[in-house]
Amino acid sequence: MKIVILSGKGGTGKSSITSSLALGLSDEGIVLVDADVDCPNQHILFPGKNLRKSPLYVSKTALFDHGKNVSESCAQVCRFGALSVKNGKAFIDKIKCEGCGACTVLHPDAFSLIPKFGGDLIVREGNDFPLVYGVLEPGESGSGKIVFEVKKAAEEVANERGYGITLIDAPAGIGCPVIAAVTGCNYAVGVVEPTPASIANLQRALEVVSQFQIPYSIILNKAGLSEKYEQKIRTIFGSSLIAEIPYDEEVPRLLAKGIPPALGSGGAAEALKKAVLAVKEMTDL
Ligand code: SF4
Repeated sequence: MKIVILSGKGGTGKSSITSSLALGLSDEGIVLVDADVDCPNQHILFPGKNLRKSPLYVSKTALFDHGKNVSESCAQVCRFGALSVKNGKAFIDKIKCEGCGACTVLHPDAFSLIPKFGGDLIVREGNDFPLVYGVLEPGESGSGKIVFEVKKAAEEVANERGYGITLIDAPAGIGCPVIAAVTGCNYAVGVVEPTPASIANLQRALEVVSQFQIPYSIILNKAGLSEKYEQKIRTIFGSSLIAEIPYDEEVPRLLAKGIPPALGSGGAAEALKKAVLAVKEMTDL
């Protein structure tokens, strides 16, 4: 079973809830995936030993053959402003080049497209479960493709070990990397905090989940901050709301020390354990 945890917005506590689920389900044999390749953080909570670190090449960039000459006007073919020509030699700005290939169509003898380093795939052995995550190279695009590769690697690890559960910590937003994280999942857990932005963004994220016809439930995090918006969340999500985690200052204190909040002793830690049981019940685990 693949369970994706998403919120549509950063800062709701999605990663804290994912870490609690990982600890609560670890006896069942799980692989944890941090699909937030722009800013992964599960490895901070679950440090371990790297089993694998592989470069990922998910996009392309142009290469000029300096043995050739091109005219200055050929720079105009690049709509991204990545190409300049001086004394017949072309110079390519690697940051601006989108790998569209227009220059290779204009001058196939002088330009070619080569694979571009997009980030690293890391498989790590933790105390309780393996963690698979990606780290996007700064300035690179293609995070959806990196998420796809990370999930593929996680599936291989799960198959090798005979683990039946994969937990996927999705990125914020509803864009390509979120779609890549949600694709192929059997269940989704939406995390919301009592703010208008969080409610609106989760609803947008759930539209993505619904497109894939994936059943879901909702966890309200930081309850106690706004009765008005908590009531709104209960009304909107109804019986899909399966757990409420109280706002508890122990959580940021634990996170600052790199400790998963479920290992604390306050009200949030207790509620997180109950939330794990609620997810287990919903997914028949
Ligand atoms: S591949 Fe596209 S973006 Fe890159 S230099 Fe050529 S025309 Fe410009």
